[in-house]
Amino acid sequence: MEPLTDTETMMAAACDWLAGQQTEMVECLKTLVNIDSNSYDKAGTDAVADVIVEWLEADGIAVRRTSRPDSGDIVEAWLEGDGSDAAKGHVLMMGHRDTVFPTGTVAERGYTQQGDTAFGPGVADMKSGLVLNIFVLRALKHLAPLPFPVRVLFTADEEIGSRDGTAFIREAASGARAVLNAEPGRISGNVVTGRKGGAAFLIEVSGKAAHSGVSHEAGASAIEALARKIVKLHALTDYDSGVTTNIGLIEGGISRNTVAPSATAQLDTRFVTNEQRVDLLAAIETIIAEEEVPGTQATIRQTSGFLPMEPTMSEALFTRYRAQAEKLGFNVGGEFTGGCSDAGTTASLGIPTLCGTGPVGAKMHTDDEYCRLETFLPRAQAVAATIIDLAVEGA
Ligand SMILES: [Zn+2]
Repeated sequence: MEPLTDTETMMAAACDWLAGQQTEMVECLKTLVNIDSNSYDKAGTDAVADVIVEWLEADGIAVRRTSRPDSGDIVEAWLEGDGSDAAKGHVLMMGHRDTVFPTGTVAERGYTQQGDTAFGPGVADMKSGLVLNIFVLRALKHLAPLPFPVRVLFTADEEIGSRDGTAFIREAASGARAVLNAEPGRISGNVVTGRKGGAAFLIEVSGKAAHSGVSHEAGASAIEALARKIVKLHALTDYDSGVTTNIGLIEGGISRNTVAPSATAQLDTRFVTNEQRVDLLAAIETIIAEEEVPGTQATIRQTSGFLPMEPTMSEALFTRYRAQAEKLGFNVGGEFTGGCSDAGTTASLGIPTLCGTGPVGAKMHTDDEYCRLETFLPRAQAVAATIIDLAVEGA
């Protein structure tokens, strides 16, 4: 069983190297948190990229940066491996550099630390995950080459639906044997083994204006048509199957005494499987096409969307990860969440995907967001060991 011995030796070496990097990991987290990087702030997300590229290149790791005109640049780093088992594909680690916090947040409340808890914009979601991925790659770089390439992708617009990033994610994941997405670990310590997909839409209804006192019958109310559609759209919600629809914003009309010539609404949808997604979109289109009020018509346009991460796509990879976590001394379960992420994109390509492999965090997208620093090392070690374990026969 010589190969197994090699594997265990490599795992031990990677874990030892990581154990010596704890102070530096926290320093790197502080550096990244203290750079504002809202999804719409290209200068900010690019500044985060500058630092990451510098760190990786300083360690002799190959990096490719693709400049993007309207979004933050795409950064990809990789280790080639020795090619002896490249046929079954590479391993991809992913993370997004953008946060939901507006530019200027760092000046108000930058990185702070109380004991083992770190605070600051994006500290959990997901700058700690970026640091974890960087250090795992660096740990692997210090070993003999793996039999397959390991790639790390750093995107810049996940929080606004990865409109620019999705194409790069699909490309980077294509042919991969496994994807590990370093979104924050759950407060329970669990990783994420399933996520709903979601799609957002803009609905626009047009009608005909008329004075509501003088010529009411000459008008066609876009607001009435929209209202009738909203009732039907909300009726598509089915908690048992996990499908939800929500009109969260509406606008319309000109004045109280004008039959409304226009109305718009924003629709949020969530679903558990791709099959549900297809059925739901068809049902929505039927509702939009119906002429609820004579003389009105409606259009619908998808504005963003994430595919679901179906739990079957994480099962085998999660089993592997959990075994490594147990060897490292921590128990981890898998959780399903209604929140979407880029993991749905890779899982929907049929690639085994595990999400929430980053350090444990909570209260994401709020001023109270925090990261549990004591989870940094074991979770980095578990990711490194899982990647090495993927080189074992049967991967
Ligand atoms: Zn995130």
